[in-house]
Amino acid sequence: MNHPYPNIAIVGAGISGMGAAHLAYALGIPAFLSDAKPLKAKDKELLEQWGIGYEENGHSMDRLKAAAAVIKSPGIPHTSATIQELKNAGRIVLGEVDWAAQYTKAKLIGITGSNGKTTTATLCHHIIAAEKDAVLAGNIGQSLAGTLADRMQQGQPDPEVVVLELSSFQLDDVVQLKLDQGILTNITPDHLDRYEYDIRKYAASKMQLATYTTGHFIYCDDDPITKSALEEWLQQHPNPPTLLAYGADAPAGPHRTTTQENKTITIQLNNEAMTIEELALQGKHNMYNSMAAGLSSRLMNIRKETVRKQLSTFDSLEHRLESVLNISGVEYINDSKATNVNATYYALECQNKPVVWIVGGVDKGNDYSELLSLVKGKVKGIVALGLDNEKIKAAFGEVPVIAEADTMKDAVRAASKMADKGDVVLLSPCCASFDLFESYEDRGRQFKNAVRML
Ligand code: ADP
Repeated sequence: MNHPYPNIAIVGAGISGMGAAHLAYALGIPAFLSDAKPLKAKDKELLEQWGIGYEENGHSMDRLKAAAAVIKSPGIPHTSATIQELKNAGRIVLGEVDWAAQYTKAKLIGITGSNGKTTTATLCHHIIAAEKDAVLAGNIGQSLAGTLADRMQQGQPDPEVVVLELSSFQLDDVVQLKLDQGILTNITPDHLDRYEYDIRKYAASKMQLATYTTGHFIYCDDDPITKSALEEWLQQHPNPPTLLAYGADAPAGPHRTTTQENKTITIQLNNEAMTIEELALQGKHNMYNSMAAGLSSRLMNIRKETVRKQLSTFDSLEHRLESVLNISGVEYINDSKATNVNATYYALECQNKPVVWIVGGVDKGNDYSELLSLVKGKVKGIVALGLDNEKIKAAFGEVPVIAEADTMKDAVRAASKMADKGDVVLLSPCCASFDLFESYEDRGRQFKNAVRML
């Protein structure tokens, strides 16, 4: 096999870096891995097993500069001194997804957005894998490089379709990726710290997905930020991919994906329409995710019956509006993955019962005013769970009861006292988890354990 880069250096271990090392080994490409921090014992063992040299606690710039290409982990900012030095020296620096994508002929579907990436990617995979050899990779816990390496080592063929969840950071590392389909779920303020607190810069980063899409670009027509970012992008890109919009009022034309009362969706491609009445995932946001996934899979020539069946038989994902238990008529819902205002907006929006809301954590510059009318109409009590709850107390002072907690156990106990039969206790924090928890998964698991112990 002819390799575009005969040898590589990998900067940063982690899922992407270790995936790249694994693929280099599977392909027989000489590689060297370098990390500024100590490596995990398990990773060192694997690298030794693969015969890949490594260093930890710092970078030998000469060794990195000697490589034909440098594969960068998405966690390392482009502004880091190491990356700057490599670029200034004229070295090719590319992301793991970009590098690994050269080693598959599969159709590539890239999915990005502020919210809904994981749900939409998993839905797409759930539908397409019913008829084709499809894999799910990227920002979803399994790198593309690692996935391809595993398959090569198990003697499996190249997959037919790869569904790739792409974070903004992964997109920022792309140099040459070509996607058959790009799906942009939405753009709402998140991770702004990495974009100089400028939503236009963040939106421009998300729009890179369209730049790397050669076939169909699928976007949500109901999202005003996406629409204005797309307009701006189109002015600079006279030869765009085919644009396909979905939304409650998507523009009329031969392609159109719309919804009826947020319950059913109609996918129209080349004037041929299909309607899906029973969607497994409830809530307006999931209807959008279903529209995107349904459209994408029809474009992959998945049969209508399969699309319908798979969209109506999808189990909800952990930590995303996950129903935990019903105790004495009170339903407990874990939406720990809601780390920004927009995600929590949709969580509150789809509740039909009075809500006791557990909210708080590390505020990423939240503007809570967007939630005020929903909170007024639906929330009977708040438990603020964080080290600093002042902003939440100030924003939602009108809610009749506000309690504070600094452990999940106390928060769940306080919420259960506020809730009556027929109510919902909803953990949808709107914030990152790092003040009190290791991760959103840890926060969600602690919530579920605390509920089970009630
Ligand atoms: P991501 O991978 O982009 O973080 P997830 O699918 O994991 O997205 O969902 C993250 C949070 O956002 C969850 O709380 C979920 O309920 C909510 N969510 C899912 N899809 C959407 C959407 N299309 N719009 C807004 N919020 C969404």
